Amino acid sequence: MFSNKEAFKAAFLKRIERTYGKSFQDSTLSDQFQTLGNMVREYISSNWIQTNEEYSKEKKVYYLSIEFLLGRLLGQNLLNLGIYDVVEEGLKDLHISLEELEEIEYDAALGNGGLGRLAACFLDSLASLDLPGHGYGIRYKHGLFEQRIVDGFQLELPEHWLRYGHVWEVRKIDMAVEIPFWGKVETYEKDGILTFRHVDAEYVSAVPYDMPVIGYETDTVNTLRLWSAEPSRYMPNQDVLKYKKETEAISEFLYPDDTNDEGKILRLKQQYFLVSASIRSIIQDYLEQYKDLHAFHEHVSIHINDTHPVLAIPEFMRVLLDDHCMSWEEAWQITTNTFCYTNHTTLSEALEQWPIRIFQPLLPRIFMIIDEINERFCKSLWELYPGEWGRIEQMAIVAHGQVKMAHLAIVGSHSVNGVAKIHTEILKNREMNLFYQFQPEKFNNKTNGITHRRWLLKANPELTHLIRETIGDEWMKQPEKLALLHSYEQDSAFLTGLADVKLKRKEILAKRILEQNGINVDPQSIFDIQVKRLHAYKRQLLNVLHILYLYNRMREDASFDMYPRTFVFGAKASPGYYYAKKIIKLIHSVADMVNNDPIVKDRIKVVFLENYRVSLAEDIIPAADISEQISTASKEASGTGNMKFMMNGALTMGTLDGANVEILEQVGQENIFIFGLKAEEVMKFEREGGYRSMDYYHHDNHIRQVMDQLVNGFFNEEDQFEMIYDSLLIENDQYFVLKDFAAYRDKQQEAGRLYEKDRNRWLQMTARNISQSGYFSSDRTIREYASDIWEIHNRGSQVLVKR
Ligand SMILES: *Cc1c(COP(=O)(O)O)cnc(C)c1O
Repeated sequence: MFSNKEAFKAAFLKRIERTYGKSFQDSTLSDQFQTLGNMVREYISSNWIQTNEEYSKEKKVYYLSIEFLLGRLLGQNLLNLGIYDVVEEGLKDLHISLEELEEIEYDAALGNGGLGRLAACFLDSLASLDLPGHGYGIRYKHGLFEQRIVDGFQLELPEHWLRYGHVWEVRKIDMAVEIPFWGKVETYEKDGILTFRHVDAEYVSAVPYDMPVIGYETDTVNTLRLWSAEPSRYMPNQDVLKYKKETEAISEFLYPDDTNDEGKILRLKQQYFLVSASIRSIIQDYLEQYKDLHAFHEHVSIHINDTHPVLAIPEFMRVLLDDHCMSWEEAWQITTNTFCYTNHTTLSEALEQWPIRIFQPLLPRIFMIIDEINERFCKSLWELYPGEWGRIEQMAIVAHGQVKMAHLAIVGSHSVNGVAKIHTEILKNREMNLFYQFQPEKFNNKTNGITHRRWLLKANPELTHLIRETIGDEWMKQPEKLALLHSYEQDSAFLTGLADVKLKRKEILAKRILEQNGINVDPQSIFDIQVKRLHAYKRQLLNVLHILYLYNRMREDASFDMYPRTFVFGAKASPGYYYAKKIIKLIHSVADMVNNDPIVKDRIKVVFLENYRVSLAEDIIPAADISEQISTASKEASGTGNMKFMMNGALTMGTLDGANVEILEQVGQENIFIFGLKAEEVMKFEREGGYRSMDYYHHDNHIRQVMDQLVNGFFNEEDQFEMIYDSLLIENDQYFVLKDFAAYRDKQQEAGRLYEKDRNRWLQMTARNISQSGYFSSDRTIREYASDIWEIHNRGSQVLVKR
């Protein structure tokens, strides 16, 4: 039905009439979207089945993640199937714009930011590389909140991506599993062995919804299985309504927070719900193939994305011990050989721990198992480090009334990885140093990546076209071949092409900004963009204070010269994160002032695009000249936004943090703008003190002026920005904003001058960034995971069967 335009049109028309009982003329955009989606799902169904059949013999990986930030799927699926053009042309004949159709799909926003988006990129790479790997997550009824800005303040509206159903999912009620909470543990004897069972539990039914994960130009279709919580058949006789409500709450909302946890019990329920359902389902599948679990780890790897799914480890132990009567020693051997863990942060406030008083009643058997793991672990430490109580206390999994999830993850896995070189080094030398001393062989680095299929082929067809014209198509399947562009870094036709593509994308974004924000921005100005979650460590504050500084200079000095710049922000703040919301307000206050002051003469525009999400990122990133990656060094584990910008030819304005360090390695120092404190310097100040932000206030007039404006009535706001002022001056500026201010100002000036004075050099730098971005394809990352950690192999890369 997709073999040519005519066949597609005929099938599509027939399908609409049959499904909706109306003629094509009367169908809505939504009818058309649903129809096309259903056609695509059917089209891949035989490949989906076939992939699973072939996988039955292969070693598989299951990727467990509390977040999958997928975004829209229609366009990407069409593109991966190689039928985008056929469909686009067929629809055009029917006077339907495929682009418009794509835009009515709601983003599947089952994640907060980088961590969830990484999981989505990994799924795309696994399928595209023909690797046996499936995702397991939660089907939140409401994904990340929808952000509205009113008078500069963030409002949060509940997101409702399922309002018209989700065309990509298949409900599999026959594969539902029952998850127990509460109750107590009884011991009994079975064949002379002491055995445990969980009784008086309250059950919740976990119902899987499967989504196809379609590889690029291959027959492979992997699966993302998302669990939905529903009332169980074994529901209690009393308080049925309360039970029902509490049950459904488990998959009601995604936690809108990257770093802390609230609503402890519910959050813990979500975590156990995800892992227990996944482990049960994985083992069921396994036992259809193999007779027992003794060689499980030879056929399955289970990956835990950050600590949220770490209870998979004791849950798996429980199944081996209680359901399969295995000895502890053997069960532990199989478990540690099965699990692997990725750490995503060095921020200590983000390290999960659970109070025993909450944990134990909710998950009594799991707690017992963790306690036993801890006992045995501490005993092994004691043998190695006799008498070192302090060390053992610091490494314990259960201590001071808390269960430490990261410790459980490290102890229960055979591989622990960080997500960029510098991050892994910090883990080894600081956060996890004691564990590294104990078992150095477990630790390894896997620098993050992004799928070039979404972030280049899909998001930037204009640039894709130019690259194909220049070096052909090889790089589309092998992104490291973008390096073929090296020969064109001085080529004037190619550089002119780059300039044209960038301008085109800036025009598109400018149009959107005019429509959404009513602000006129000049596509000829430098587009300087910072889009990511709002967090103190990411230092949007440094950016906005610098804009205020530029504004002051213009007001005071008529001769102040600066090439026109458009500053673009996009960021959601966690609803309970008051400080982050203040920064959003400050950005808007500065924007209002700057955008409306004739003195500025359009040399600066400040734009905040609301509701940052994957689909918006796809429109913003191709339009960037400058990519702001200015976190306090040592705080950003990797970042992946930085990679998306680089791949789209933006130049990085960044600190030596996370993957910026490796971007620098790839492009060379003359093709990136690096400034500010280094990670060692930040960590030294943190250890030993020696930084006083007040000194910078007193010794730098520009800083003083900007700081004073936060509190002296300059903005005419109700309570102004005392909170920000206090954090920077009274609380000594934890994230070194003032310390890095001058270096940032100077680098920004250098970048502006270069853009103004030597556009050709700028374009060469752009070309170098694109040609070196292949390293940051998640295909490279996934190959490393596959060979070093999971030991899985591709299923003999089928050539696309022409249909
Ligand atoms: C890539 C991405 C992120 C992560 O951005 P960072 O700059 O690495 O923090 C967050 N949100 C969305 C929607 C993304 O696409």
